[in-house]
Amino acid sequence: MESPQQCNSKQSLWRKVWRTLAPTKIKCFTWLVAKKACLTHEVLRRKGKIIVSWCSLCRNTAETNQHLFLHCNFTTQIWAIFLSLTKTNWTMPEHTADLLSCWIRRGGSTSQKAWWRIIPNCIWWTIWKERNSRNFEDRSNSIQKVRWDCIASFYFWCKEKGLEVTEQIVELLGPL
Ligand SMILES: [Zn+2]
Repeated sequence: MESPQQCNSKQSLWRKVWRTLAPTKIKCFTWLVAKKACLTHEVLRRKGKIIVSWCSLCRNTAETNQHLFLHCNFTTQIWAIFLSLTKTNWTMPEHTADLLSCWIRRGGSTSQKAWWRIIPNCIWWTIWKERNSRNFEDRSNSIQKVRWDCIASFYFWCKEKGLEVTEQIVELLGPL
């Protein structure tokens, strides 16, 4: 049985996901990632599937939720693009739910805070698409291409929601 505290933190996590201005299907996906319910090898194994698990992005270790979405050296290169926009020191949390809880931009306008909250959605969706492309279509994109796709999706989602996308974001597109 869950304690009221656990229940509250679950509700507040759901509120955080749901209030984000990302497209609805992406928010549903983010929720699965935060709940560790997305069908990674870790989850498939837990369901009794016998599979040889390795991360298709780095090929260094087994595919777990936190490795794929937070700690894989491929994934951290995508996080690094966005983290370069803030001066805050950042230590990657252990779990995806923890990341959503602490992914808060301090300071800045309301619209900056709104686009900041879209970032984890965008990274996780991009990583999942690349992972599936490698696992099921035998097609690998370069890190440069994946970085570009992530920023492009981010840019378009912000525009779609009428968010003021700062010059900083547009500058990110430059060196890619
Ligand atoms: Zn990896």
